[in-house]
Amino acid sequence: MNYFEYRHDQLCAEDIPIAELARRFGTPFYVYSARTLRRHFRVFDEAFAGTDHLICFAMKALSNLSILKLFASMGAGFDIVSGGELMRCLRVGADPGKIVFSGVGKTDEEIAAALTARILMINVESGPELHHINQVAGRMQFRAPVSLRVNPDLDPGTHPHISTGHRDSKFGVPLAQVHEYYAEARGLPNLELVGLSTHIGSQITDTAPFNEAAEKVKAIVSGLRSAGVALKYLDLGGGLGIPYQEEPPAPAEYARVLLKPIRDLGLRIITEPGRVIVGNAGIFVTRVLYVKETDVKRFIVIDGAMNDLIRPVLYEAYHEIRPVDRRNPGKPVVADVVGPVCESGDFLARERELAEPKTGDLLAVMSAGAYGFVMASNYNSRPRAAEILVDDTDAHLIRERDTFEDLIRGEKIVELRSR
Ligand SMILES: *Cc1c(COP(=O)(O)O)cnc(C)c1O
Repeated sequence: MNYFEYRHDQLCAEDIPIAELARRFGTPFYVYSARTLRRHFRVFDEAFAGTDHLICFAMKALSNLSILKLFASMGAGFDIVSGGELMRCLRVGADPGKIVFSGVGKTDEEIAAALTARILMINVESGPELHHINQVAGRMQFRAPVSLRVNPDLDPGTHPHISTGHRDSKFGVPLAQVHEYYAEARGLPNLELVGLSTHIGSQITDTAPFNEAAEKVKAIVSGLRSAGVALKYLDLGGGLGIPYQEEPPAPAEYARVLLKPIRDLGLRIITEPGRVIVGNAGIFVTRVLYVKETDVKRFIVIDGAMNDLIRPVLYEAYHEIRPVDRRNPGKPVVADVVGPVCESGDFLARERELAEPKTGDLLAVMSAGAYGFVMASNYNSRPRAAEILVDDTDAHLIRERDTFEDLIRGEKIVELRSR
């Protein structure tokens, strides 16, 4: 469900034709639909109605300030994974009491910044991290609210690069050692043990792994209770998939399965959805430069590239590609849709069936809202694309396209001594 639809065969973002955005802002660009963002957040929130809960949007999926502001205004919290993300949250006036901090490699500076901001809790992923947080908190004369992230050792059935809940992944502490870690943490004077966390992976399209994780977490919480550790929060992470091609469960079904084992524990439930909130709320728009035919293949060369959207090569991800104007479709062809970057991995689609476009036509790469712009780079000295937020009939430029000056910001030309 999203608000990118054809009107008179012209693709629109809410009430604005995409072609108009291209004329106004140039290509390539990302465009997000505020109506879709609000709707997705609401549907997810309503799925947990009746349970004491907090939704912490996993902002690594899409971290533009205007997007964060929109979610903050709807009462969202945030799951952050770096000091830079904390800065973004604070910049938009997000409530620090709704921020959780995840990640295996937090620096002392990041820990101190999180404590200074008085965030809700730090999700701790190792023994050494517990000790570091204890030390940093001691120096600051704070008690640090922490939650241990457990690795439930299960296979969420998703791409290996986005699977985090298996025992050989770097994330979390092993299930079997959770009790030891809590015992250790209780002996550290500057820590307050407030929660238990887990996050098993991303783009998960089956409810079974979520249920399995919840069951495992429940057993731990019960064990900890018997040992006298009373927690406040149970953080079940994110990971619900979206329909790129597959058919994931609806948020209501996901919530039902997730909550079944744990709803009677009396803990506040935290979730960290990223992709499911923003994935379908954004598209990437690019212009066709050339159609190139060799004796074996047809290539549609576009002005967008892997530096703009790396998911196809990084995760073998599928993104539907639609013509922005479908009034006079070209003949059906099978082609690779490729960018100008000097890499064979620079493709947005391979062996794709589509109506052959012409030079100058616009293409929409669908479901690009999550892990799209945030992963963009300046590889090949390409300016990062503009970001636009559409709200009914308004189009806001929420990030300017990089300029050439942006590309060299911070660089110095040094004069080397001649040798
Ligand atoms: C990436 C991440 C999420 C969000 O995952 P989605 O698949 O986008 O929902 C949530 N929690 C943690 C700890 C993460 O690393």
